[in-house]
Amino acid sequence: MKIKIILMIVFMCVVGASSAFAKEWKEYKRQHFIVYYKNAPFDFVETVEETSGQYYLEITENMGFTRYKGWNWDERAKIYIYDNAEDYVVTGKQAGWSHGVASPRDKVIRTYPSAHGFFDSTLPHELGHIIFREFIGFKARIPSWFEEGVAMHQEKARRWGAHDTVRKAIADGTFKSLNELSITSLRRTTNRDLINLFYAESASVVNFLINEYGKQRFVRLCRKLKDGDRFSWALDSVYVRFKNIDDLNKAWVKYLDD
Ligand SMILES: [Zn+2]
Repeated sequence: MKIKIILMIVFMCVVGASSAFAKEWKEYKRQHFIVYYKNAPFDFVETVEETSGQYYLEITENMGFTRYKGWNWDERAKIYIYDNAEDYVVTGKQAGWSHGVASPRDKVIRTYPSAHGFFDSTLPHELGHIIFREFIGFKARIPSWFEEGVAMHQEKARRWGAHDTVRKAIADGTFKSLNELSITSLRRTTNRDLINLFYAESASVVNFLINEYGKQRFVRLCRKLKDGDRFSWALDSVYVRFKNIDDLNKAWVKYLDD
């Protein structure tokens, strides 16, 4: 009998915990986006929709992805606004260190209002993932540091300070080369220092490519990837100085050292 009571209490706690988050999504539908939300204030939801539209234009312009067809009606992107970090992690089934996630194929973004720099970082970052993948296509195989770096380049502050973080890592011996980063996968259990280093290096190297060699060349690289070229081939044919990822790594480290 005693066991039964204990079991019932445990069971109720579990049920209680999962039902603490609202399950019903409310919808705010506009021409280019549908925002799903639970308890987020409506004016916040409106601002998310409006800002996303502005970012869409800014990012396509910023990346030089011209003649990019818009997301209208049936092709609208969907943005899910969870109530808070806990709701996002528990009901959204996301990693505790993550603040937002994009599934480019379904054009879905999941995040929450207090996510790190919601309007300046998280929102343009996740939109950047979708726009970039739509441009290069879903078959293109690219290193994840490149994919993340492009998304970070859309953030307002472009992960300002990323170069310094990488310089520190070089000095203290924790730096990972691009070839090492290419085989690093980030999981729920990955330690924060490695996650921070991964993102800082990704932002730093993409910023280096775009700022030092120009946007035009970068767009040419993206076009090659879109055409199905392997990443190292595309790199070699557009940036003749870099025969492979290792050459890019050396030039980037040298640039940070100067
Ligand atoms: Zn990302």
